[in-house]
Amino acid sequence: MSVIIDQVIRSRRKTIAIIIHHDGKVFVRAPIKAPQRLILAFVDSKSDWINEKKKQALQHPVLPVRRFVDGESFLVLGKEIQLRVVENQKIALTLGTEFCISQIALPQARKVFENWYRAYAMKIINDRVEYFSRQHGFRYEKIRITSARTRWGSCSSRGTLSFTWRLVMAPLEIVDYVVIHELAHIRIKNHSPIFWAEVARLMPAYKQSKDWLKKNGRILTLDSDG
Ligand SMILES: [Zn+2]
Repeated sequence: MSVIIDQVIRSRRKTIAIIIHHDGKVFVRAPIKAPQRLILAFVDSKSDWINEKKKQALQHPVLPVRRFVDGESFLVLGKEIQLRVVENQKIALTLGTEFCISQIALPQARKVFENWYRAYAMKIINDRVEYFSRQHGFRYEKIRITSARTRWGSCSSRGTLSFTWRLVMAPLEIVDYVVIHELAHIRIKNHSPIFWAEVARLMPAYKQSKDWLKKNGRILTLDSDG
């Protein structure tokens, strides 16, 4: 398969290098005087590798740049909720059928959203932990909300359960999986087969949620990776 080069960037360098951007675009860095046919031959010799990298990049959607403007959408329990900027509103950010942010809160919009997600995470996760604890007889110490990026949850030796606020961007069954995972750690601290058997007992279809999180975890953010 041949490769489409999006841009050749020439500079004072001695070798040719290929860069695949996260949006799948192919950039080639080359010495100022390198002949075009040499560049093409080099790219051609790497075509399998390039196409594989492009495929990988395109499977991961590019995260949108957050601008906090009318019509932009934000994830809440797996649903896309649109944002509306309003002029007169006492509370910085509210959620009805859409998010309404007060115009004067816009300069701190990211922080305002993070605070909203934190408070929402505390409410939702507290409910779910309570529900599953009562159902299965778990005893925990307390719940903490963190802003961890990839550590969705943890369980301390004293039974403090920590969860990142980013989790409530995911569908509820994903939240439930992480809650159940951490509750199972109250009884079994490691990730042994016995632990996974316990998780499966509490949530037979847990694997789907575990895979979802692995694949989609990076979209649970207010940041862009541009
Ligand atoms: Zn674990």
